[in-house]
Amino acid sequence: MTRPFNFSAGPATLPQEVIEQVAAEMPSWHGMGLSVMEMSHRSDEFLSILNDASTLLRDLLSIPKHYFILFTQASPTALNAIIPMNLLGKKERAFMDFVHTGVFSGKAMLEAQKYGNVHVAASSEKNGFTSIPDEKTWQLSSNATYVHLCTNETINGTEFFFVPDTKNIPIVADMTSHLLTAPVDIEKYGLIFAGAQKNMGIAGVSVIIIHHDLLTDDAQPICPSVFDFKRLKEQNSLINTPPVFAIYLCKLMFQWIKKSGGLIQMQKQAFEKSALLYSCLDQSALYHNKVDKTCRSRTNVPFFLKEEALNEPFIQGAIQHGLLNLKGHRTQGGMRASLYNAMPKKGVQRLVEYMKEFERTH
Ligand SMILES: *Cc1c(COP(=O)(O)O)cnc(C)c1O
Repeated sequence: MTRPFNFSAGPATLPQEVIEQVAAEMPSWHGMGLSVMEMSHRSDEFLSILNDASTLLRDLLSIPKHYFILFTQASPTALNAIIPMNLLGKKERAFMDFVHTGVFSGKAMLEAQKYGNVHVAASSEKNGFTSIPDEKTWQLSSNATYVHLCTNETINGTEFFFVPDTKNIPIVADMTSHLLTAPVDIEKYGLIFAGAQKNMGIAGVSVIIIHHDLLTDDAQPICPSVFDFKRLKEQNSLINTPPVFAIYLCKLMFQWIKKSGGLIQMQKQAFEKSALLYSCLDQSALYHNKVDKTCRSRTNVPFFLKEEALNEPFIQGAIQHGLLNLKGHRTQGGMRASLYNAMPKKGVQRLVEYMKEFERTH
């Protein structure tokens, strides 16, 4: 069976090998006579899956010992509330700095202000979020509890290629759409979070990587116990029944990434794939991308056709060529191609061929 190429922003394409492994292991995981979906989360078998997932992630990202890995059902949107509840603790008038670079940092700000004071240290709203504000212009507060960044804006198509110097104020980074697409200098962050459904699995679980210093204070009393990071850490991410199947998929994806050459290889491929598409856009008289060249995302490439009326024929033609889910986010219009880890280079080559052909014929 040949599968179409799926450019969805998330839930996103998975490697065929991983899907086949899931299918093969579905009726009877490792000869147990039952599937992962039916296992007790306290069984030795599931604990081995959880432990492997955690060890593989630590290994892939070289996560130092003084950082903990947590798995939670809270999706990134939920974490926009849960993180301030945990980190602001009982401090009076605690506040957070935000760098507003697009839709997801904007949503995070709106949510965080329910739990503390939000200060916008920098924003690229004026230019329609097509760039990342120059670090020199950021107005960071000296006493914020943390600085929030969305290091890859999935909808706007911008990506950070630097880690800002926040003068010892911990950085909290939403890396949902690019974690595991390149090595990360973990020590530069206080907390990293990502939903699994983009680069490392399926919807239903998020990964949190947190410096142990951020676990010293208690969470705000309003924080639900199952989302209390200290408790999650103490109970090995098993306060309540965890999303066992989604964690199993994480394990398989981490193994696949490792086997495929690790993060150096993911990074190389992400650059190659996105360069193919950006070069097609830059040479074209029909398509364009609005993002500043210094911060174009390697994983999410929004682009527009010269005439709105061509959008529908473009999408229909793409479907006929086995190129799915290219329609842009509903708030932005146009197109978007998401090029996550599991998107093969061949998929991007096919897309570029199709785009050139469409341009010739329209
Ligand atoms: C997809 C995404 C989210 C939202 O994830 P949900 O699972 O819908 O909560 C948040 N932040 C970023 C950067 C994303 O890419």
